[in-house]
Amino acid sequence: MKNYNIIYLLSLGILLGACDTKKIEVAPPNIIVFLVDDMGWQDTSVPFWDKETPFNRRYQTPNMERLASEGMKFTQAYATPVCTPTRVSLMTGMNAARHRVTNWTSARDKIHGMEKNHPALQFPIWNMNGLSPVIGDSHAVYATPLPELLKQAGYYTIHVGKAHFGARGTIGENPINLGFKVNIGGTGAGQPGSYLGTENYGNGITKLKPWAVPDLNEYFGKDIFLTEALTLEAIKAMDTAVTNKKPFFLYMAHYAVHTPIMGDDQFLQKYLDTGIDSTEAKYASMIEGMDQSLGNIMDYLTKKNLDKNTIILFMSDNGGLSAVARGGEKHTHNKPLASGKGSVREGGIREPMIVKWPGIVKSNSVSDGYLIIEDFYPTILEMAGITNVETVQKIDGISFMPLLNGEKMKEKDRPLFWHYPNEWGPSGPGIGASSVVRKGDWKLIYYHIDERTELFDLKEDIGEQHDLVASNPEKVRELATVLSDYLQTVNAQMPIHKNTGLKVSLPINALKQY
Ligand code: CA
Repeated sequence: MKNYNIIYLLSLGILLGACDTKKIEVAPPNIIVFLVDDMGWQDTSVPFWDKETPFNRRYQTPNMERLASEGMKFTQAYATPVCTPTRVSLMTGMNAARHRVTNWTSARDKIHGMEKNHPALQFPIWNMNGLSPVIGDSHAVYATPLPELLKQAGYYTIHVGKAHFGARGTIGENPINLGFKVNIGGTGAGQPGSYLGTENYGNGITKLKPWAVPDLNEYFGKDIFLTEALTLEAIKAMDTAVTNKKPFFLYMAHYAVHTPIMGDDQFLQKYLDTGIDSTEAKYASMIEGMDQSLGNIMDYLTKKNLDKNTIILFMSDNGGLSAVARGGEKHTHNKPLASGKGSVREGGIREPMIVKWPGIVKSNSVSDGYLIIEDFYPTILEMAGITNVETVQKIDGISFMPLLNGEKMKEKDRPLFWHYPNEWGPSGPGIGASSVVRKGDWKLIYYHIDERTELFDLKEDIGEQHDLVASNPEKVRELATVLSDYLQTVNAQMPIHKNTGLKVSLPINALKQY
């Protein structure tokens, strides 16, 4: 890692409105990644579809509305179906098929029980220890993490909230080891012990020990929801950066709205008063608490006159939970999208995303261009003006700066890939070991368990209700080829069929059996 060029290139240009190719030193922008956990595409009053839905009317997120009016809304932004693969892709720029942290991590060297005992598939030994900054760590992906590059370029790198990059008991568990200067609340845990200050966020309760949120002792015993406590700490950390005259990178990774679903008393009653299911009312209160955090951070930036030179990227790490723990009918909480968290259907992977960048990104604009979570890595480096980067890993992500500039991506109909050769647990549409490609409006899903494919035209069928495999075999073959080539290129891991002892076929080879 060398040659960090922190000269910020105004060939991005629009600030000066000229084709001046000279390099001019200006203050690099502050960058905030505001990552919500398990938030679905419809869990907001901002419509991300071409029409408003009942969910848009249920959830109240005025600060997301404000952010969207000041920035660009992305209608087709993708993550992976579960937490850790998304977070590792964000921190490494690698696709999950390549980094092999294909499922959510728990404790060091721990394989999930449901993966050990699956009736039909023997799952590969994936990188269950997550991301590691150290070469040779077992069952972990060694990579140059994004915050490390930002820190070396002079950024004050702040981690607040949920980490979940590495399993508990590993070096990658601690964000400080991944290039963050400050860590508040991040561990190998994938959820908080409790959202309540009156329960000390799970600290001191034996059965909650692995999920207790650290670093928040000053809020213990107080009626302050976790989301708010983390926001107060994030503002303190930004203040430190400002005092020290350093640009900052804030990774504001809320535990909300992951389970345990607990009511935020600031907002709960009005949702209960609408007569909706009490779990859903609690969920809605957590969404609004998250939105209040966004508003508080935006207000802070304005008050400190930082708003003009601060980029905010709003994103979620997977689709909204719908298979378990929610009120109402399963697999319906992301409608019009099918299914939810854990699924490769759109409900599990399509995310609410907004980017604000004053002077660069047009306010109140919409991009229908598609992108995926690993694209954040090269995009953020480009935003920070960091060039000539050498990383130990190969980067799969592509900068989406053209979309931010209101242009199209150079790569026409670029394929996006998902690879999940694992077991999540609950069942439902699109849930289970699979590999997926999206190219243009077409999406092919390949299920490992029965080597079956599904084909959807997302433009005509956003709800993935009409499988077109039988009517469009040419498209199936084309996409199966693209997907198979990619899986081979990255040497993707595949499960083994327990009944035959054979590895799951590549998608193109499965087609030849028909
Ligand atoms: Ca998640």
